[in-house]
Amino acid sequence: MFWEKDIETMNISEMKELQLDRLRTTLIRANSTPYYKQLFKDIGFNPSDVKNLEDIQKLPFTTKNDLREHYPYGFLAVPRDEIVRMHSSSGTTGRATVVFHTLNDINNWANLVARSMYMTGARKSDVFQNTMGYGLFTGGLGFHYGAEKIGMMVIPSGPGNSQRQITLMREFETTAIHILPSYALHLLDVFEEMNLDPKKDVKLRLAFIGAEPHSEEMRKKIEESYDIKAFNSYGLSEMCGPGVAFECPEKNGLHVWEDSFIIEIIDPKTLKPMPDGEEGEIVFTTINREGMPLIRYRTRDLASIYTDSCPCGRTHRRISRIKGRDDDMLIIKGVNMFPIQVETVLMKFPEIGRNYQIILETKEHMDDLTVEVEVLTPADDMRIYENLRKRIAEALRDEILFTPRVNLVQPGAIKRAEGKAVRVIDKREKA
Ligand code: AMP
Ligand code: ZN
Repeated sequence: MFWEKDIETMNISEMKELQLDRLRTTLIRANSTPYYKQLFKDIGFNPSDVKNLEDIQKLPFTTKNDLREHYPYGFLAVPRDEIVRMHSSSGTTGRATVVFHTLNDINNWANLVARSMYMTGARKSDVFQNTMGYGLFTGGLGFHYGAEKIGMMVIPSGPGNSQRQITLMREFETTAIHILPSYALHLLDVFEEMNLDPKKDVKLRLAFIGAEPHSEEMRKKIEESYDIKAFNSYGLSEMCGPGVAFECPEKNGLHVWEDSFIIEIIDPKTLKPMPDGEEGEIVFTTINREGMPLIRYRTRDLASIYTDSCPCGRTHRRISRIKGRDDDMLIIKGVNMFPIQVETVLMKFPEIGRNYQIILETKEHMDDLTVEVEVLTPADDMRIYENLRKRIAEALRDEILFTPRVNLVQPGAIKRAEGKAVRVIDKREKA
């Protein structure tokens, strides 16, 4: 059983009490890290000053840059020999950062992942194929330990080698899979190459998709193409990895596990708290971690908090799907846009294929945007797609307020990244 009912449905006042209690412990722990010890001293802060949850706002934010500057051990709260594991961020932006875990941390993390998967209906009887990277990246080992807690049979296939992935699915009757949404679409091409139908020739029923931004339309496409249920999994290595926030069967927002993380949403410019329901940057404080407590960590991820209660009965508040990181925002011809907006439009066209890319260039000193999209069915002469191309350009204009160049290409023509999808290629001349 991994339905932690008492915790998952805890009433709000009890939850706040639990959070305050854990926050206090965390601050005391933090006071033994080189970084926070110095910080607390500099700002004259004493962990015992914290009387309620709002008092956390007296503390400054912790940023990725702070982690980099105090690399590698500046945030360690226990002697080095209490640490049993380190992980690292995938480093899509700048130098990677490292995170350390004690044995209790690893155990708590596995519980969160197990709780998340169980919530979606995963059970001991499932065969679970984990196509995420094992190693420094948290996606592989994070889910692996969680799935084993539930008692599922785990196939630690790791990423890549797509034909073998499908063969494993068939031979061992995989029912649940952890997969990047971009890779889930790519695998459809491989099923086709192998003359197999993902709806009939494999026994998949559940997918956990995450680690990269994706749209609701992308989820629908995955669910329909495989005839499965797909759940959004959100996490970041600085908090643990997967198991920070996860969709329940309602699939309407992701429950943030508030017994382990305090969430705040701030305006990334003014750094002031945003009212509930409004979009801003997610800030997390770990409240159940020994090795490396992080206080008010700025994730750069953009989302909003849902204020209504969830019909599933869980009281942990939900966040919206992540729109992207605030540095994903593109300003093109003075218009702000997020790559996810392009994806939302593209996924509505059944004729389009499994990959797309946004290319930015400077042409005659101006920003120039090309959306390159694979079509589903190859053609000897791409001119047959002229009408589709125009319709996509028009639909994009309605969404992003100017008409981008749309370039339709053959299936498989866009180079795939090894890990998380690279959606934007910025070749603009820097001023
Ligand atoms: P890493 O620390 O390398 O695991 O990367 C974590 C980052 O991946 C997060 O801060 C997000 O930007 C992104 N990410 C993870 N899960 C999701 C998700 N479900 N939706 C959107 N972005 C995600
Ligand atoms: Zn729910």
